Amino acid sequence: MALRVVILDRDGVINRDRDDYVKSADEWIPEAGAIEAIARLKAAGIWVGIATNQSGLARGLFSTADLDAMHQKLRHLVREQGHEVDAIAHCFHLPDAKCPCRKPEPGLLAQLQTLYGRPFVSHETCMVGDTQKDLLAAAAFGLPAILVRTGKGAKTLESHAIKNPVFDSLKHWVDSLAL
Ligand SMILES: [Mg+2]
Ligand SMILES: [Zn+2]
Repeated sequence: MALRVVILDRDGVINRDRDDYVKSADEWIPEAGAIEAIARLKAAGIWVGIATNQSGLARGLFSTADLDAMHQKLRHLVREQGHEVDAIAHCFHLPDAKCPCRKPEPGLLAQLQTLYGRPFVSHETCMVGDTQKDLLAAAAFGLPAILVRTGKGAKTLESHAIKNPVFDSLKHWVDSLAL
């Protein structure tokens, strides 16, 4: 498989998740090896987009400026490895807003595809998530996905019958690719 596009969930995949939401750049702490894994994907010529539910914005737990600061930190850390994240799409709605973007809806993937500029091809694309919402969003958009055990991943495996491939972390998945 020639992998061309990777869509990453953020919390629990790239950075450590928190039960009380990741609310600031200080609370945004990378998972072990995640930044290097993104850099390795980029070095292999893969387009890397991030699709993240951020209902904490609508809940008033943090501001758009806080979110920007978190994403500046993410981008800065990847840039230190000599690479750039291609796009970040976030949903700021509450779950009961019934918006088209909050995963498990596929709207964030549609936004990323627009930024990519071409249709995502299923056998050249993979989503990486730690919750069933991520896996369902990918499926709703016709894309394969893998689950990582970091973040809520272990809990997801306990509470859902997951048929997707499972890896210990983003780093372990990228290690497994023949890049
Ligand atoms: Mg997550
Ligand atoms: Zn939304």
